[in-house]
Amino acid sequence: MNIFLQHNPTKLYFGENQITKLSQELASYHKQVNVLLVYGGGSIKRNGVYDEVKAELQSINAVVHELSGVEPNPRLTTVAKGVDICKKENIGFLLAVGGGSVIDCTKAIAAGAVYEGNTWDLITRKKEITDALPFGTVLTLAATGSEMNSTSVITNWETKEKLGWTSSHVFPVFSILDPAYTFSVPRDQTVYGIVDSMSHALEHYFHRTENTPMIDGFIESLLRTAVQEGPKLLKDLTSYKYRETMMYISTTAFNGSLANGTDGGDWATHRIEHALSAVYDIPHGGGLAILFPNWLEHVLKEDPSRVKQLAVNVFGIDPAGKSDEETAMEGAKALRTFWNDLGAPNSLRDYDIDDSEFDAIVEKTFVKPGVGTYKELDYASVRDILERSK
Ligand code: NAP
Ligand code: FE
Repeated sequence: MNIFLQHNPTKLYFGENQITKLSQELASYHKQVNVLLVYGGGSIKRNGVYDEVKAELQSINAVVHELSGVEPNPRLTTVAKGVDICKKENIGFLLAVGGGSVIDCTKAIAAGAVYEGNTWDLITRKKEITDALPFGTVLTLAATGSEMNSTSVITNWETKEKLGWTSSHVFPVFSILDPAYTFSVPRDQTVYGIVDSMSHALEHYFHRTENTPMIDGFIESLLRTAVQEGPKLLKDLTSYKYRETMMYISTTAFNGSLANGTDGGDWATHRIEHALSAVYDIPHGGGLAILFPNWLEHVLKEDPSRVKQLAVNVFGIDPAGKSDEETAMEGAKALRTFWNDLGAPNSLRDYDIDDSEFDAIVEKTFVKPGVGTYKELDYASVRDILERSK
């Protein structure tokens, strides 16, 4: 194992009716401040979450401004609107109510609100983030883990760039996770959430650190649980127990705990997916479902050992009488079949994407140097993964 520091300051409230903790949190931390409530295209108004949040805010007489309409794959233009409101209305606390897009957008607003220039400078790391407004979240979709990490992904649609960035200043102060708030998540988004959570676990799994049996077993357990429980959830979308399990999986898959003692994992597939969805505005989980099995197939040609371990320990594939490469290949296929059976796409054709923009996607994957750590990819490797995904 490597030396590591575990420090995740987000206070997590998990379970039914935990929304009642919202007024308590806001009162104790930030009673006298103006709050900016950030949400998406309206799902929270349809499922009643908005009313519950507003009742909590009213109970402490919070002064509330609103930014609605945060789009899936949140855009810099929306971040800019939020930053303007913060500066004009002297906002002291942000509250994100939604999925990963709303939370990621809120993180960028929080950082941009205390910066004089364009928030894109912070996202591109042209300027260092030294501060941010505090914010909390009420999660309505189990997928990204953004509710308990310091990562955000923002799209600059003008330049067709989708960039992930991270700063210790943008951990949520608190996050409220009520699995019942995810009952209304439609089937397709539920599938994307399962794929994204499993992809975060997989990215962590592909590290190069020696002697990590505990963390590897932890990740395998998380993946096995998703494989066992995910299909049950899709048969019963309003089951509290299955929603609860998936919500805990998605938060744990990307809150730092799976990186303890390792080099942090590979993340090349996420880099390619961000480049892909910068060009084509497709759901993140859909892009990952197409790319990840092909990344596995690409890497196992050189070194099948880790993919074989995944095949045996997560998908129960019997390695007897097979070469390591054969077992590993069965593992990559098992992952593709599992996601496909859930209803996830498995080829770029499913989104009517052909190879005409492959050069641009490869180029955008390398917008920051160093793609992948388990296997560092070059341009030809990324191209190979895209070709396999056609
Ligand atoms: P999302 O983009 O936040 O939401 C997808 C859709 O689900 C929206 O149309 C939203 O509608 C709807 N929705 C959310 N909650 C709902 C509910 N309870 N009932 C019904 N509909 C609901 O999805 P996401 O997968 O959570 O986030 C994806 C974004 O996060 C991508 O940009 C991805 O790149 C990024 N990401 C971030 C991290 C990170 O660590 N920060 C990690 C991975 C991915 P409304 O807009 O109407 O609410
Ligand atoms: Fe992701």
